[in-house]
This record gives sequence, C-alpha cells and structure tokens, in this order.
Amino acid sequence: MSLRTKTKPWQTVVFRLTVWFTLFFGLALALVYISTRSLLTANLEKVLDQDLFLESQEYANDILEDDFEEIVNDIREDAEEQGTGRVFYRLLDRHLRPIVESDMSHWTALSPESLQSWAAAAQTQQIIYHDIQGPEPALEGRAISRMILNGQYLLQIGKILKEDQVLIGQFNRVFASVMLIILVCGILLGAWLTRRTMSGVARVTRAASLTGKAGFAHRVPAGSEGAEIDQLAEAFNNMLDRIEALMRELQDVTNNIAHDLRTPVTRIRGLAEMTLQNAATGQDYREGYQTILEECDRLTHMIGTMLEIAEIDAGLRRYEHQDVNLVELVAAGVELFMPVAEDLNISLSYTEPENDLFVRADTARLQRVVANLLDNALKYTHPGGAVTVAVVRRNNHAELRVADNGPGIASQHIDRIFEKFYRVDTSRSTDGSGLGLSWVRSILRTMNGSISVASEPGHGTTFTVAMPLSAHSS
Ligand code: ADP
Repeated sequence: MSLRTKTKPWQTVVFRLTVWFTLFFGLALALVYISTRSLLTANLEKVLDQDLFLESQEYANDILEDDFEEIVNDIREDAEEQGTGRVFYRLLDRHLRPIVESDMSHWTALSPESLQSWAAAAQTQQIIYHDIQGPEPALEGRAISRMILNGQYLLQIGKILKEDQVLIGQFNRVFASVMLIILVCGILLGAWLTRRTMSGVARVTRAASLTGKAGFAHRVPAGSEGAEIDQLAEAFNNMLDRIEALMRELQDVTNNIAHDLRTPVTRIRGLAEMTLQNAATGQDYREGYQTILEECDRLTHMIGTMLEIAEIDAGLRRYEHQDVNLVELVAAGVELFMPVAEDLNISLSYTEPENDLFVRADTARLQRVVANLLDNALKYTHPGGAVTVAVVRRNNHAELRVADNGPGIASQHIDRIFEKFYRVDTSRSTDGSGLGLSWVRSILRTMNGSISVASEPGHGTTFTVAMPLSAHSS
C-alpha cells in the first residue's frame, strides 16, 4: 500500500501549515484594521470636538456683548442653514431652563432627561463632550455642553458625523478589498511555499520507499528547497551508504563464516569418521582424538575471537589499563618468536629506542597484538626473507613497526585486510582465520591506539601501530 493512498488531504503538513498561515495572517490583518479604524475615528472626533468648541466660543462672545436678539436669530439661522436634522443648538439659563433652542423635533433619540443631565454635569465641569445618537439610527454624533458667563448661561450644540461616517465607510470598503487581495495572495503564496519546501521531504520519502523495494542503491537526488532539506537528504543518503556498507559486510561475513566455519567442522567430522573407520589400536584412537581436539580448540578460539570483536565494537567489553613498557613488551615478543623465525630461515631483528616508552594498555591484549603482527610477518614471508621490528617515539606517541620483505599486499586488498574474515585469496592456503587484524584494530581502539599498513607488492609490508604515551613516559 502506498503512503499517498493512506493520507487524507487535511492530514498533510501542507494543508495544516496553510490553515495556520491563513489564521495568523487573517488575525494580523484584523488587528491592523481595528487599530487603524479606531485611530481614524478618534482623530475625526477630535476634529469635530474642536469645531464644536470654536462654534460655542463664538456664541460665548455674542453673549458677552449681551445681544440676545442677535443670538436667538443666529441660533435659528445656523440651525436652518446646516439642517435641523444634522445640528441642534440650545441656550439655557442658570436653572437649566431653555431660553432658546433650535427645532428639536428630529432629535427624538435624545431624551430631554439626558440633555438636562449633561447640562447639570457641565455646571461642575464647565465644558463636557458626549457621543449622541442622530435622528437616523445609523448616524452618530458629538455634542458639547458649555457654561458661559460664570455659570449664568449654558450652551449645548450637537452635530452628526455624516461626512465622517461616509469617510469611515469608504475606508472600510477600501480596506476590505485590499485585505481580501492580500489574504488571498498570502494564502496562495503560503501554500506554494509550504508545498515547495515539503517537496524536498517528499523526495526523501520517495527514496525511502524505493529503498525498501529496490535495494540500497537509490539515493535522494539534489534539490533547491533550502539548507535544512539538503541536510536531511544528505543525512538520509549517508544513512543509506552506511546501511549499504553494513549489508555488504554482513554478506561478506556470512559468506566467510560459511566458508571458514564449514572447513574446520567438515575437517573435524572427517577426522572423526577416519578415526572410527581406520583406527585399529588404542594408540591410533588417541592420535585421532588428539587431532580432533586441536581442531575443536581452533574452532573455539575462532568463535571466541569473533565474539570478542563484536563485543568490543559494541562497547560491551571493558579492560583494565595500566602503564606498560612497550619497549620491553615488544622485546619479549621478538624473543618468543625467534625460534620460529630460525625454523623458517627468516632473519628477525629488533631496534629499540634509548629510553623506555610507556603506554596505557591491557598487558595480555597488547602482547597478543604484537604476537599477531609477528606471526603474520613470519607466516607470509618466504624463507630467506627478513622481518624487522622497531619501536620509536614520535612526539607524544609510541610507534611499533613490523616490516617484512614478503609478497606484499595488492592495492585492491589493502583497504580490506582489517575486515572480519577477509583474507587475500592466495593466502587461503596459509593457516589462518582472517580475524587476526580485525581483532587487532578493534582492541587497539580501546587503548586509543591505531594501526595502519603500507605495502609494495613483491617487496614487502609494514604494519605501524601508534599509541599515545602515558604520563609515565614524559
Ligand atoms: P589471517 O588469519 O588470514 O592471517 P589476518 O586478519 O591476520 O588473518 O590477516 C588478514 C589477511 O591480511 C591475511 O589473510 C593476509 O592475506 C594479509 N596479511 C596480513 N599480514 C600480512 C603480511 N605481513 N604480508 C602479506 N599479507 C598479509
């Protein structure tokens, strides 16, 4: 079943991100609208309040001149001129009784009580402004109540915000259409961007599903969605590289195990069969069993080494390290192998430094490392050849070099000789399991050491072990 058929559109990241994007974008636009509109309304109110104040000021001046006939006329004329449905004027005495007022028949939304209560409030505060409801329900306005001549008179003027409301209406329409365009463009852009970014993830997904079906050869192709996606693709490709290498190693190990374990087991079986069929005396049986035992020991040792390498590599084995004198340890190893070298007619020499060199190591394991390298050098060198061993100091490292003038290792094999069970084909005739160098490399890692090899086919091979010097040496 493909991944695509299982996923509903609303379950996709693209859909969810687009919805979130739309919500946040819409919210941000709404906030911009609300703040711009309240700023605009507040400004228009301020302008109208100023207008009301200036007009009330003119009336105050007329009252100061005590020209009441003129004032009554002005109030009526001004109201008629601007429209009694859009403006009203009221002049009250100190007891809040109307002296003169314009036609109030349109202003039914304003109760006489509220007009009186604003007038009363103005008696204490001198000037007050209030929001008022105009003659038509949708029209709002502002009014001023102002004391004149030390509280002898009170003037009330009210006006509706018709022009202002038209302006606000226009603002609403323009803002709504701009907002709609921005919102639609924003959603489309957001969806496109998310889709584009997610196409990189889709590429990795495609490669992952292909990996299951078509082996490990497929890789995520390069894209241009951005660094994060490139890193994801690179990490995924690296993982595939590692899996491919592991699978190859597993395949090789399986093949080699099949080859290397089957041979001794078949040999043991053959020996047992031969002993059973051919042995006539107790001595024959003893010899037969002796050989079988040796083969079993070899096999047990091989399985033990395999397990040890696996445990070291998995970090499950812990060793006690102490200061070990490498110069002495190698000298003892060379001495041990001297009789073998003599038997094989190979010259074995050792060059040691002037001073002792101490490294942190597990003594028995380090002895086995030296033994492995000497054993290999002697095993693969022809009679009459030479093996030279040297220990030198290189900065804060001790170096052990085991060089021979044997057949050498061809370049196509050199990188692989440290792999488990890997043996150069021609050496299958020689005794060995192909685990020695693999074990050496793994165990040296636990001692912070390393091993490298240089070889010239036909001229010989040099193995170099490098280990950090312990504090004891410096
Ligand atoms: P083996 O048990 O086969 O010796 P190792 O892991 O010790 O296993 O070595 C792996 C392979 O590396 C050997 O089979 C051999 O082909 C090659 N090799 C190791 N040491 C030498 C050497 N000194 N000269 C040539 N080839 C070597």
